[in-house]
Amino acid sequence: MGMYDYVDYECVCPNCKQKVSGFQSKDAECELALVTPIDVNNFYTSCNCGAWLEFNRIFTADYRVLVTKNNKVIASKKVTLYEGKK
Ligand SMILES: [Zn+2]
Repeated sequence: MGMYDYVDYECVCPNCKQKVSGFQSKDAECELALVTPIDVNNFYTSCNCGAWLEFNRIFTADYRVLVTKNNKVIASKKVTLYEGKK
C-alpha cells in the first residue's frame, strides 16, 4: 500500500550547508514506517536549495553519497554510518 519508508537520518547539505532530513527509501516494506539507514541499501532526499542527496550502500556500514543539482554532481564521497543514530 505504501510507497516508501522514512529513513531516520539527517546530515548537512554539501551545497548550502543547511541541515537536511526527510530521507526516504523504497528498499524496506514501504509502509511509511521509520527505518534506520542500516536497514536499507539506498535512501535519498532533496534539500530546500534544490540539491538531491542519494546514499547507496557500498559495504556493510559504508555508503557513497552522491549530491547533484540541476544534473550536475556537487559532491561524491564515502560515509560510514553506524547502527542506530549517527
Ligand atoms: Zn542544500
